[in-house]
Amino acid sequence: MMRAVARIDAAAVKRNCARLKAELRPGAELCAVVKADGYGHGADVCADAALSGGATRLAVATGTEAAQVGRRFPQVPLLTMGALTPEDLDAALAAGSEVAVWRDGFRALAGARGRAQGRPVRVHVKYDSGMGRLGNPDPREVLALARACDAEPNLELAGVWTHFATADEPASDFFETQLQRFETVAAAVKAEFPDVRAHAANSAAVFRDRRAHFDMARCGVAVYGLDPFQGDPGERGLAPAMSLHSYVADVKRFAPGDSAGYGQTWRAAGETWVAVLPLGYGDGVRRGLSNNAEILIGGRRHPLIGTVSMDNVTVDLGAETDVEPGDEAVLIGSQGGERVLAEEVAARLGTINYEVTCGVSARVPREPA
Ligand SMILES: *Cc1c(COP(=O)(O)O)cnc(C)c1O
Repeated sequence: MMRAVARIDAAAVKRNCARLKAELRPGAELCAVVKADGYGHGADVCADAALSGGATRLAVATGTEAAQVGRRFPQVPLLTMGALTPEDLDAALAAGSEVAVWRDGFRALAGARGRAQGRPVRVHVKYDSGMGRLGNPDPREVLALARACDAEPNLELAGVWTHFATADEPASDFFETQLQRFETVAAAVKAEFPDVRAHAANSAAVFRDRRAHFDMARCGVAVYGLDPFQGDPGERGLAPAMSLHSYVADVKRFAPGDSAGYGQTWRAAGETWVAVLPLGYGDGVRRGLSNNAEILIGGRRHPLIGTVSMDNVTVDLGAETDVEPGDEAVLIGSQGGERVLAEEVAARLGTINYEVTCGVSARVPREPA
C-alpha cells in the first residue's frame, strides 16, 4: 500500500524501442529522447531500457539533463537539442554531449569551447524547415554553417536536422512541405559531407512516412508507450510504461445532499459510499479532473467526484460496494479487465498524453512495475 506511486515498466520501454527500430528503414538509428526525466518516467531507467531495446543514441533538451544522462551513460552518443546559455553549453560539453548549432555566434562559442577542452565539439546544424522555433530558416545559411563547422578544427560536423510541426496531424499538408524542404537541404549538406547524419523524425513521423526516417529518428513519446496520435497505443504495437496508483484511505456513507470537497461542487443525489484517495494536484492529478475522471477501484470504473485538492480526491463508489479502506486505486493503468490510458486523461483535460505523464510530480516515487 502506497500513498501515491508511479510504476514504470522498463520491459515495455524496451519492447517499444524494438518496435520502433523494426519500423525504421534499414540503417536508420533510433535515438531515444529522455528529456524531462524521460517524459516523467525516470530518465535513467528508461534510457537503460531503450538502449537494450535497440536505441543506439540518447537525446535531452537541457544542459542539466545532459549532465545527468551523460554521467550515467558515458559511452552512448548524446545530443542536447535545446538552446543553450554559455553555462548550459559548458554543462552539456562536460557531459560529452553533442549540441545543436544554428547561428554563427554560437558556432564561434562552441569552437572556442572545443579549443579550450582540447577536443572538438560535435555539432548538429539545425534547419528550421517550418516549425518556427529553433533552427536557421535560410537554407543557404544552413549550408554555410555546415561548411564553417567543417572548416573549424575545434568542431566536428556530426549532423543536419530539423523538426516537424504537424507530424501527428494526418490531415495536415504542412508535413510534406517541411519534408521536401529538408530533403533539399540535407541532400546539399550530404553532397559535400557524406558522413553527416540527417535526422528529422519524431515518433509520429516514424509511423507516418518512411521518407522522414533519414539516418536517425528521435523518438520520445512512443518509447514510453504513449500514442503519438492520441489514440490507443496498442493499435500501433506500443505498450504504456507508466501506471499511477494510490489506495483507498477511507470509505464513508453519504446521505442525499451531502457534499464532497472544496466549493461543494458535488452533492450526493441519493445514499452512496464515497472513497477518499490521499493524492491530488500536488502529485500531478490535475484540478481540471474535478468531476471529470474515472478511477479504477475493485476492478471497476468509478467517477471522481468533487474538486481535486492538493492532497486528496474523492470517488463515488455507489449505493452498494465492497470496496474497503486499503484497496488499491488506479488513476492511469489497468485493474481487473478495465484500463485508463494517459490518452483518456489527456482528452478530458483538453491536452496531450505527453503533458499527463510529465505532470506526475516529483512527490510521486517512481518504482519498477
Ligand atoms: C521532444 C523532441 C523529440 C521527440 O518527439 P516525440 O514526439 O516525443 O517523439 C524529437 N525532436 C525534438 C527536437 C524534440 O524536442
